[in-house]
Amino acid sequence: MGKRAKAVICREWNKPVVVEEIEVESPRRDEVMIKIEACGVCHSDLSATNGTIPMPPPLVIGHEAAGIVEEVGEGVDDLAVGDHIVISWIPMCGQCRYCVEGRPALCDVAQRATLTLPDGTSRYKDSDGNVLNHMAGVGVMSEYTTVHRDNVIKIDPDIPLDKASLVGCAVMTGVGAAINTAKVTAGSSVAVFGTGGIGLNVIQGAALAGAERIIAVDLADKKLEFAQVFGATHTVNPGSDGDAVAKIKELTGGEGADYAFECIGMGATIQQAYESIRKGGTAVVVGVSKLTDTVTLGAFLMPFMEKVLTGSMYGSARPRVDFPRLLRLYKQNRLKLDELVTATYSIDDINRAFDDMQKGVNARGVILL
Ligand SMILES: [Zn+2]
Ligand SMILES: [Zn+2]
Repeated sequence: MGKRAKAVICREWNKPVVVEEIEVESPRRDEVMIKIEACGVCHSDLSATNGTIPMPPPLVIGHEAAGIVEEVGEGVDDLAVGDHIVISWIPMCGQCRYCVEGRPALCDVAQRATLTLPDGTSRYKDSDGNVLNHMAGVGVMSEYTTVHRDNVIKIDPDIPLDKASLVGCAVMTGVGAAINTAKVTAGSSVAVFGTGGIGLNVIQGAALAGAERIIAVDLADKKLEFAQVFGATHTVNPGSDGDAVAKIKELTGGEGADYAFECIGMGATIQQAYESIRKGGTAVVVGVSKLTDTVTLGAFLMPFMEKVLTGSMYGSARPRVDFPRLLRLYKQNRLKLDELVTATYSIDDINRAFDDMQKGVNARGVILL
């Protein structure tokens, strides 16, 4: 039996999102219905409503959520009603080349199923019976959702679900970029451009890895204050401190950082991240830029510098391994999740939550359902 549920829908790009009651279909084979308890408000949700991430409306947004299993479909024998779970927005099929090579964040099935479940169909309909798209193949800013079993990671029931939800995107993406993608080493120097939800988690990932110097760069002083809570040792506000690259070089003995992370999604700051690393250093692009944005890099020095420029998708996540691991670190008080949730909202307040995110007043806002 399906469920009626309140959900956040993008009906038209560049318009406020709307909350509507929708119909959520029961799980088919290898699928699970989840009662969503908490859904983080991520910059990518906003990007999906203005075409920066080009997901066509009508779209149920949300991809960072935790909840409780409500119903399991045929063939699902490792999840039961009542299990606590975190949503992974990559299904990791386990069969494609990338899954087999241990890089499920690049899963071919995941990259096809960006608006629907892996079989190409939706489980959502609006009150007129029109099909709604699932953002990132999940679309979980909804009281109930039905998703593929492979998008569901079971967690210990004693972890608060509002905190656990953040592991599904911001924490995995940020901490993962530092420890999985770049493999930040102890004693290293790290520069982080942009200290929103993702950047803060890159910072705490670098701190977990034992980085000696963590330089946070942002135009908002409030965000730089958060950055220090998460482990930044130095802060740079290019608005008042001048050129970020020059400042990072000054703070790293003139050489540049060992690692730089771009968490904004702009060609210009990707260039700065690349310029701010030393010879042999690694620059990692985490932020999602506009489709038309480009990066221009000086070519001459490339062979002489042996710098590495790479992207990081979902923190190079292996969700079934990484989510439980991150939550164990939280339980040991080595990963900050409580400090991340600086505001909670009801689902009806989603547009206010987006406004607050753009003003930079929160480390992370979470919708409680
Ligand atoms: Zn996200
Ligand atoms: Zn795969």
